Formats: sequence, C-alpha cells, structure tokens
Amino acid sequence: MTNSESMSLPVPVFAGGTKAITMTPVVGTPRREYAEMFIPGEEELEDGELRVTVLGSGNPWVTRAQASASILVEVGNAELDILVFDLGSGSLANYASLKLPVNKLNKVFLTHLHADHTGDVITLSGSFSKVGRADGPIYLWGPSGTEPRLGTRHFAESIEEALAWDTEAGRGPINPDSMRIETSEFDFSQTGVVYEENGVKVTSFPVVHALSGAVGYRLDFADLSFAYSGDTCACWPLVRACEGGVDLLIHECFPPAGVLAAASGLSIERATIALNAAHTSPSAAGKVFELVKPRVAGLWHTLLSPQVIPLVFSELGAVYDGPVVQTQDLTVFNVTKEALVARQAKVSDQLPPIPGEQRVAYTPVATAPPHWWAEARIPLDDTQATA
Ligand SMILES: [Zn+2]
Ligand SMILES: [Zn+2]
Repeated sequence: MTNSESMSLPVPVFAGGTKAITMTPVVGTPRREYAEMFIPGEEELEDGELRVTVLGSGNPWVTRAQASASILVEVGNAELDILVFDLGSGSLANYASLKLPVNKLNKVFLTHLHADHTGDVITLSGSFSKVGRADGPIYLWGPSGTEPRLGTRHFAESIEEALAWDTEAGRGPINPDSMRIETSEFDFSQTGVVYEENGVKVTSFPVVHALSGAVGYRLDFADLSFAYSGDTCACWPLVRACEGGVDLLIHECFPPAGVLAAASGLSIERATIALNAAHTSPSAAGKVFELVKPRVAGLWHTLLSPQVIPLVFSELGAVYDGPVVQTQDLTVFNVTKEALVARQAKVSDQLPPIPGEQRVAYTPVATAPPHWWAEARIPLDDTQATA
C-alpha cells in the first residue's frame, strides 16, 4: 500500500469515524448483506460463524477511546458460546455495550499476567456477580510461569484473596459459587490444546514477551480459525501454530519507536527497549503476516492517533500486501467460510445488564447486620426507609 492509499483510510471512531480502519472491509463474497455498522442485538450469529470483537485495542494507558487488551469471540454453535481472551481495564465497559448476557461471560483465557491484560478480572469476578453473573464461577485459563508465584493459578488465588471483603459482603444475597475463580493453568512452554468443548478447540503456544510465561492462542471451530498473538515479538511458535492457514490473525503491533516515544511520553531509549524486548513493529508484523498468510490480518495493541495510522500502514505495506485491519475498540469481524467482514459497532453508552438465562436457582438471603449499626444508623420513618 502506498502513502497516498493509506491517506484514504477511515479515521478512528474517536476522531469521528464510523468504519473499520482498513482498505479491505470485505474479503470474499458474503452470503448475506451486512449493515454498514454492527448494531448489537440486531444481528443473529449464524450457524458455524465466528464473530470476533475487539473489547480492548489499547495500552496500559487506558483511555476513553482505547480500553486495555481484550478480544471477545462469539461462537455460532448450539450453545452460542462466548470466550474472552485477556481482560484489560475498561474492556468490560465495552462488553456491557454489546447487549450480551452477563452470565455467559465466564470463560477467560489470559495470554500473560501483565496488568493491562488482567485489570478487569477483578471486575468480572467481584462486580459482575452482582449484575447477573450469578450461577457459577469464572473459568480461567492461563499459562504457568517459571515458578509457581509467576503462574496464573497464583494470580487467581491472589485475586480471590484480595476480594475477601467483597466476597464476605456478598455472602447471603449472592451465590457464593459465582464469586469463585476456577483456574486451569497449563505449561506455557508447550504448544497444545487447552480447551475442547462444544466443537470449539483452543490451542496455546509460547510467545516471546518480556519474561517466560506469555502465550498466544489459536481457536478452531467448524473449519474456521482465529489466532491471537497476545503480546509478543515476531516469533516462530505463533507461525507454526498457524500452519495450514488461519482465517483471522490478530497480532499486536506497536508504532515505530520514534512515533511511540512522541505519542506516549516515553523517551526514545525506553520506547526502543520496549519495542525490541517485548513487542512488534509494523514491519515485523508484516513479516509474520507474510509467513502466516491469514485471510485477514488485524493489528492490535496499537497506540492510535490519526497521525500514527498512516505511518503504521506505510511501514507494514512495504513488506506485506494482504488485507489488514488496524483494530480499534469495538471493531467487529464476522468470520465465515465465504467471507471476512470488518466493521465498527454502533453502541449505546448506558445499557442495563442482561443477566441471561440462569442455570442455577439461588435464593438470596438477608444476613444479620453488624451490631454497632443499630446506633450508627439514622432512624427513618416509613416514607424514608427503603424497605
Ligand atoms: Zn504484556
Ligand atoms: Zn500488553
């Protein structure tokens, strides 16, 4: 792609855009018509379709435009399964805009334990159990570390421990089972299947990022495949895990070091170290795409600005000419055998939670208040009291 072509890319939603940032929003020949924007609640998931939505496209510096790392996958199987990969700060606000049942969001796959990929685990565990995620635990998959305290199990147990007050405060009104985290920790260093249910298979593979213990994932369903790098430098295990081809590969991409430094406030030295030791430049992402040849490639975890985007596309375009989408929050991919369609969701900012069909009946019970409240509470008459 030349510079002049990249100039005609859509602008980000936060700058007034309404489209996915790509020159190729449709790849293949769709068997149905797609509305220009994805409107939550108005499009059924088709049998055998995958819908992949970026809940968090951004960075540790979470902003109103970019939540931290998270990708949602809705599966067109009989169960309409929902899986989420990473759960960075702010990503649940985007989930809440999608009109999806709260209690279906209970399968979380972490790529690694950087805080920008895990910040909303505490919200999902402690807070979503109060608004509909009421019928069972969170199931959490994640890698081991080189020692137990660096692994996902220790992370989850520590979250549960940190939520001791929250959990105790909910005892009685809230199903205690919904405040648990059930962890499946697997060996970070091996490529292998970590989940297989209802026709969905998830494979993890090691990636090169900051410290041992980071992984990426590949999801297979009905002859469709989605691969997700998590945070990584360009690496072979990802390429090998994508052998045979994938439909959609979402790979991290940081802006070039000079641009990153200017946009993030980091020094050029610090930006260069971060990029080399832990992340992927646009041209390195292009190299990976050239090796994998996905039907559509997505760039993600990119500090976005209208100035950065053409630079990313022009650096990438020098080494790769396949279809590429620069993802932003609420970029939606419809993945079918016939086509891949990339759009932006049009959402409301304030929606009530949809609890979903509860699988477990739990009867809330009132618990006795602390004794000292009797004197601390201001007496209210019948019109002022809430109960
Ligand atoms: Zn990271
Ligand atoms: Zn990250």
